[in-house]
Amino acid sequence: MMKFGGTSVATLPRWQNIRELVASRRAEGARVLIVVSALTGITDALKQLCAEDDQDKRRACAEGIAQRHHELLGHMQLELPETLGERLAELERLAAEGPAVMGELAWQALVQAHGELMSSALGAAFLTHSDLPTRWLDARDCLDAAALPNQNERTRLLSAMVEAKPDPALATRLAALGEVFITQGFIARDADERTVLLGRGGSDTSASYFGALLKAARVEIWTDVAGMFTANPRQVPGARLLQKLDYEEAQEIASTGAKVLHPRCLSPLREPRVPLLVKDTNRPELDGTVIGPQLSEYAPSVKAISARKGITLVSMESVGMWQQVGFLADVFGEFKKHGLSVDLIGSAETNVTVSLDPTENLLDSDAIAALAGDLARVCRVKVIAPCAAITLVGRGMRSMLHLLSSVLAEFDQIRVHLISQSSNNLNLTFVVDEDVVDSLLPHLHELLIGAGALRTDDSALFGPSWQNLYGRGEAVAPAAAWWREAERQRLLEFGAQATPRYVYHLPTVRAQARKLKTLGAVDRLHYAVKANTHPAILRALAEEGFGFECVSPGELKAVQAAVPESAPLLFTSNFAPREDFVYAFSTRATVSLDALYPLEHWGDVFRGREIVLRVDLGRGLGHHEKVRTGGSGSKFGLPLEQLDTFLRLADAHGVTVRGLHAHLGSGILDDGHWAEVYGQLASLAERIGSVAFLDIGGGLGVPSHPGEAPLDVAALDRRLREVKAAYPHYQLWMEPGRYLVADAGVLLARVTQQKSKDTLRYLGLDTGMNSLIRPALYDAWHEIVNLSRLDEPGTTLYQVVGPICESGDVLGSDRRLPEAREGDVVLVAQAGAYGKVMASPYNLRDEALEIVIE
Ligand code: ADP
Ligand code: ASP
Ligand code: MG
Repeated sequence: MMKFGGTSVATLPRWQNIRELVASRRAEGARVLIVVSALTGITDALKQLCAEDDQDKRRACAEGIAQRHHELLGHMQLELPETLGERLAELERLAAEGPAVMGELAWQALVQAHGELMSSALGAAFLTHSDLPTRWLDARDCLDAAALPNQNERTRLLSAMVEAKPDPALATRLAALGEVFITQGFIARDADERTVLLGRGGSDTSASYFGALLKAARVEIWTDVAGMFTANPRQVPGARLLQKLDYEEAQEIASTGAKVLHPRCLSPLREPRVPLLVKDTNRPELDGTVIGPQLSEYAPSVKAISARKGITLVSMESVGMWQQVGFLADVFGEFKKHGLSVDLIGSAETNVTVSLDPTENLLDSDAIAALAGDLARVCRVKVIAPCAAITLVGRGMRSMLHLLSSVLAEFDQIRVHLISQSSNNLNLTFVVDEDVVDSLLPHLHELLIGAGALRTDDSALFGPSWQNLYGRGEAVAPAAAWWREAERQRLLEFGAQATPRYVYHLPTVRAQARKLKTLGAVDRLHYAVKANTHPAILRALAEEGFGFECVSPGELKAVQAAVPESAPLLFTSNFAPREDFVYAFSTRATVSLDALYPLEHWGDVFRGREIVLRVDLGRGLGHHEKVRTGGSGSKFGLPLEQLDTFLRLADAHGVTVRGLHAHLGSGILDDGHWAEVYGQLASLAERIGSVAFLDIGGGLGVPSHPGEAPLDVAALDRRLREVKAAYPHYQLWMEPGRYLVADAGVLLARVTQQKSKDTLRYLGLDTGMNSLIRPALYDAWHEIVNLSRLDEPGTTLYQVVGPICESGDVLGSDRRLPEAREGDVVLVAQAGAYGKVMASPYNLRDEALEIVIE
């Protein structure tokens, strides 16, 4: 079964594509039934015709529609085929006659059915003419619409359903007639011999009905995009291709707003287990999405975020609802009477709120007003519209809730009318005002990736992004990591010699440093050395013109030993003892304070000095609670209410506050953050008077999950320049750490063994949290690859663990990797920051050695 949508049948080149595709299926030995939609825009034109009261206007519409088909015939250099001629004549007759004879709804259905009747007639002629004999089939002779008890006349005629059970007789009948057939999507016939429609977009469902009737080997939906994506790709260019889905998940994505598949097109295929493939007519080489029975091995993941607009909420208020027997029955009886199907439901003691979805209901304001009028007899009614429903879809949604905190935080400024969690555990839906959706969706999609809820690292499920596949010009492939290609062989040799080992790639450190050097707004950059104190890295950054930020005497000594005298030093400690300050003042470091205590008790140490004051701006930011360094829950910074006391103490000891400093956390990818901090510090500095520079901290994030967007350095610079223009008299300092070194380092380990427990597979390495504690401490996500088998496909879902006697000794959960063997070299990426420096001798296991690549 091959179904081609409106854009796929609208031009001659598209039909030439269709011919090639059908021919290739024939070459594989398949018999083909083609299902087509109307040419793009024709269904809308026919609806327009139906809306005209005036006979001449209707005729003019029909004339225009005929013209479109004649034009395409001209391009195909074909004479008018008889089948198409009959349809055009019939349409003209219907336009002239109007609805009076047949009745409004039956007439509308028959008129609109002509879009598909005409496109299929045209297609049959073209294919037959291009040496692919193709028989035209009237879909109405095969698809019988079922009259369901609760349907009203309108749904029966315009949004009909077919019970498609395998029909061997039909298969035999067709087999006797030929090899290639073409028929119409969107239409069927009811028991009264009337032409009925399957609802907008219903051609997909026609293909599925035929697929089930004939027990097809496969239903292929050919459209203008290479499959189902994690979000509508026209709205979210970073959306990823979903390579495999099961019927239920695909159904959920389709019914919650992904127009690429009609919501009803999956259920006919489930029982006969016919697989469905979604492909791009213009790019048949792209893999597309395969939908079939449930996949056995998968990591729980959000699969998609979709949105439906045009949702109407009906809120019904009653006093003591639960005490009142039959209240819900009364209320829902009204919906039934008006032929409206309810989608989401929220309830409270005295209120029930439900949503009406336009894809399931033929909503118009009259229908809603009539419903509200009748409901008003049993309760107080409020209609809230227009709303939109934003839905996260994924099997096992409840097991992912803990990953969604950053996503949920986005809703704090937005009115959420209703939240609903489906009882099949497949979705979580938020109903909000319609106008916020367009800007919110790309942002939420990004947050889902960043939070590790949308597991883009699982390459068996998630394919390339839409942008990568269709981006203007060349594909914007993510920059290949240094370890993946250029240095892979060398790393394998290191791994064969000894593991565990950290390997640092200095060219990457330099490249990151140079990116930050483009920040024209920044006067001084300091490397926060706590991220990685390897002397070669310190030297490289000194050569790139960086100063150094240290938090202990040990770090000050390491830096002084490695870099020239000229490099500026900062000493930015927290809860450091008295002697640390004494030491720091014996060096050339600029010293900062973030508490009253040192001035209150050790005033002599600071007398006559210039210092930096680190303040707490009252909030923290970052990828995990444990890396947020602002707000009363964090031990860093002087709270602003103590500022006056601090300044009085400073004055009393002859201490000058020369700089102000704030650092809110790490892993921040929002380019607007630092300008905000600068603005706040600048307005405090105005009050103090003696301040010459503002240190806006570090925390510049590097994306860890595949597909996460990197920090936009140019945008960061623009934002800083803007805010600096308002306060030009301060120098601007920054102190990045992780940004400079994270991607430059990897941890190499060796596979020692495997273990199975229930459905889980554990992959044991010769090191774990003793070498890299970030996954255990921050739930940090590091890419993990089997470097020895980098070219083999990922087949096994592993829990990657170390040999430490702690349950938390897990470097990565649910990682799809090739089947591993003892001795394989495994690489943990992005381990250049907070790796070796946080390693411990715990369990008295050998610490990883360090190697530097120039
Ligand atoms: P056809 O005319 O071939 O039936 P449709 O316009 O009905 O095509 O469906 C394809 C369109 O669906 C895509 O161009 C895209 O804009 C839209 N779409 C919405 N959500 C998704 C999604 N999650 N994945 C893919 N496409 C989507
Ligand atoms: N032409 C119909 C519509 O636009 C059916 C389809 O395209 O699937 O709704
Ligand atoms: Mg469609």
